[in-house]
Amino acid sequence: MSGRKRATRAAGAPSGGGSPGSPAAAWRRLTREIERCTRCPLHRTRAHVVVYRGSLTPRVVFVGEAPGAEEDRTGVPFVGRSGRRLDAAIATLGLAPSEFGVLNLVKCRPPGNRFDRRAERTCRPYLDRQLALLRPRLLVTLGAHSLRAIDPDAPPVLRSAGAVRPDHAPPVFPLLHPAATLRSRAWHERWERDVARLGRCLSGELAQPV
Ligand code: URA
Repeated sequence: MSGRKRATRAAGAPSGGGSPGSPAAAWRRLTREIERCTRCPLHRTRAHVVVYRGSLTPRVVFVGEAPGAEEDRTGVPFVGRSGRRLDAAIATLGLAPSEFGVLNLVKCRPPGNRFDRRAERTCRPYLDRQLALLRPRLLVTLGAHSLRAIDPDAPPVLRSAGAVRPDHAPPVFPLLHPAATLRSRAWHERWERDVARLGRCLSGELAQPV
């Protein structure tokens, strides 16, 4: 481990309490395990492992791809430009902090921000264990990698985004990746439309309420 590495700041992690067998204790143990992970080469170049931010009893979990530079620096998912776009959407949805969480498929920054399928496979059990403890009622995938990993049967993201997939357990609501919406006005407009549809889905107007 290099000297610049510090403990990950897993925003939203419980600060105390919970008996050894409680979900809160299981979450803390899992978080520590992820923070110490050296199972793939990304651990050599990371500054922080980026585990989670948000509620431990979320209604909705947003699933991104992998940390960027700002997330690697802070240890918190979606705090850079993409994170500001995501947070603006969450604000328009009216979700309270107790109602949502944010995490990534891959917990360490891939150098050059190139998505790393090997790291995705290594990290996958962590994602599955996080979701088993969090038990959200809706998963919102952000981008193509996230949708493919969570719901491999879904059509490509440009066709899937903006409509709930109620047969998945829990239901999945695909969105474009916020970073893509920063690069293209058309995709930003699509994002805004899809987020509005997500709001209607959350309020029960579209398909089944979640
Ligand atoms: N992009 C992601 O997919 N995740 C982050 O945490 C930041 C940017």
